[in-house]
Amino acid sequence: MQDLSVYYCPVCGRYSYSQPSGLPACSLCEVSMIFLMPYSDFHFLNQEERDKFLIQKMMESDASLSGRLLAYLRSCSCKEAATLIDPRINQLESENQKMNDTIQWMHQTIWDLLHQKRHLEHQLEKYLTDCPAKQDPEITPPT
Ligand SMILES: [Zn+2]
Repeated sequence: MQDLSVYYCPVCGRYSYSQPSGLPACSLCEVSMIFLMPYSDFHFLNQEERDKFLIQKMMESDASLSGRLLAYLRSCSCKEAATLIDPRINQLESENQKMNDTIQWMHQTIWDLLHQKRHLEHQLEKYLTDCPAKQDPEITPPT
C-alpha cells in the first residue's frame, strides 16, 4: 500500500492507482497515464484539493488546455445566455404570427371588397344597358 501511486490521464483527467512498476493506461483514451503523486499524499487531500492539483498538473503539461477550457466555459455561458433569451424569442415569434395573420386577413378583405366592387360595376353596367335613356347620368341620374 505504501508504494501505491496516483496517475492521471492527460486527456480526460481520470485517476488511476497503480504500483510504480506498472505504468497504467487510460481505458477510455488509450493513452499512458502520468504520475500525479504518491497515494500516501493523495489520501490526505479532499476532493477540491485533488481537483485543483490535477488541473494544475494538466495545465503544466498541456499549454493549450487553459485556452480549450476557457473556450468550453465561454460556450457554456453562451448556451446559458441563449436559454435566457429563449422566452423573449418565443414572445416575438408569437407576435410575428399575429401580425402575419392580420396581414392575411387584410389581404383577404381587400380581395373581397374588390370582387364586390366588380360585381356592383357589372350590375350598374347591366342596369344602364337595360335602361338606354338613363345612360348619361348628367341628363337623367339613376333613381
Ligand atoms: Zn483518459
